[in-house]
Amino acid sequence: TTLIARRPASIRPSPSIAAKALVTRLRAEGRHIIDLTVGEPDFVTPRSIMEAAQAAMQAGDTYYTPSNGTLALRQAVADKLIRENGLSYGTDEIVVGCGAKQLIQTAFAATLDPGDEVIIPAPYWVSYPDLATLNDGVPVVVPCLEETGFKLSPSQLEATITARTKWVVLNSPNNPSGAVYTAAELAALGEVIERHPRVLVMTDEIYEHFVYDGQSQISFGRAVPALRDRTLVINGVSKAYAMTGWRIGYAAGPRLLAKTMSDLLSQSTTCPSSIGQAAAVRALSGDQTFVVQARATYETRRDRAVELLDAIPGISCKRPAGAFYAYPNVVGLIGRRSPDGIRIADDLALAHHLLSAGNVSVMDGTSYGLSPYLRVSFATSLEAIEAGCAAIARVAATLD
Ligand code: PLP
Repeated sequence: TTLIARRPASIRPSPSIAAKALVTRLRAEGRHIIDLTVGEPDFVTPRSIMEAAQAAMQAGDTYYTPSNGTLALRQAVADKLIRENGLSYGTDEIVVGCGAKQLIQTAFAATLDPGDEVIIPAPYWVSYPDLATLNDGVPVVVPCLEETGFKLSPSQLEATITARTKWVVLNSPNNPSGAVYTAAELAALGEVIERHPRVLVMTDEIYEHFVYDGQSQISFGRAVPALRDRTLVINGVSKAYAMTGWRIGYAAGPRLLAKTMSDLLSQSTTCPSSIGQAAAVRALSGDQTFVVQARATYETRRDRAVELLDAIPGISCKRPAGAFYAYPNVVGLIGRRSPDGIRIADDLALAHHLLSAGNVSVMDGTSYGLSPYLRVSFATSLEAIEAGCAAIARVAATLD
C-alpha cells in the first residue's frame, strides 16, 4: 500500500494497550476475563486532586497554557525534585507534557539524527524501542538476565556504547522486572558514561514511589551529579497518584533540551490540558498520604502474587523490589503441549493459551524483550490476583 509512510509502518502498536483492548472486547462478548495485564493503578484519583481540577475550571483556568506547562506546575515540579529527589532544577529546565510517554517521544525527536543509537536494557518498557525507531534512531537492546537481577552492568554498558550512541535509557524501578538500582550501581554506570562525552542519560523514574521492603529509590541525578548536563529525568503523576487518564508528565534536563522539547510540543499538542495541570499541581504539592497507602497496598499484593506464582510447578518467581509487576520465569512450561495438542513454543504462545484456556490475561515477556517470562500486574485487587494465579496454575497443570 502507498497509504502509510515507511517510518510509521515499522511501528508496533503498544502491546500492553492492545492487551487491554482485547480484554475489553472479550468482556463485551460476555467472557469473564481476569485481567492481570493492567499497567495502571486500580485506585480512584484522590478527591483533593479532583477538587483542585474543579476549582481550576470554575476559576476560568480553561485556556492554552505555555507549551512547556504552567509556571505553577513547573514550580511544583522543581519543588518536588528538590524535596523528594535532591535534584535542583529551575523552571526553565522543566517541561510538562501529555504524559511521560509524550516527553520521551519529544526528547528523542529533539535529539536523534538518523542512525543514532539508543541503548535500552531488556527487559524494557514496551515503548522505548518503538519511540526510538519512530524518530529514526536505532534501538540497541542489551539483555539483562535474571541471574544479575535484570540489571545492566557497567561492563555490559561499556561494551555496548559506540560512536553512534546518543542515549542510555534507565528505568528504575523497572517495568516489567521491578528491578531497582542502588546508588552504587547507578554511580558505576555513571562512571562509564562519563568517559563517553556524547552520551546522554534518560532516567525514567515514574515508579519511584513503589519500592518495597523499607527500601527507597534513588534518582540517577542524585547518584551521579557530575552528569547533570547530560541527564534527562522523566517522571509524571500517572502511577504515583492514580492519574493515568489525566495525561500529565514532566521532564527535567539541560535548558537547551528543555527549550527544544517545548518548541516541538508547541507544534504538536500546544500544551497539556490546563485542568490536568492544575490537578497535577495539587498532586505534587498536597498531602502525600495517598502515595504511602498505595505503596503499602501494592506490597501486600506483591507478596501474595509472588507466593502464588512461585508455587506453580514450571514457574519460578523472584520478589520484585519495586513497581507493580511480577516477572515470573516460565521456562519450565515452554515446549509442553496442551490437552488439545497446542504446543507452547514460547511465552507468547503461553500467554495466548492462558487467555483462551484459563480466561486470564497476562503479558508475554517477548513484548518486553526478555523471554521466557510473563508480566503479571499486581495493580489489581487481591481477589483478582488470587483468582488469576489459580487460573494460571490450573492451565499449567494440564500441560505435558
Ligand atoms: N514509563 C514507564 C516505565 C511506564 O511503565 C509508563 C506507563 O506504563 C510510562 C512511562 C508512561 O506514563 P505516562 O502515563 O506518564 O505517559
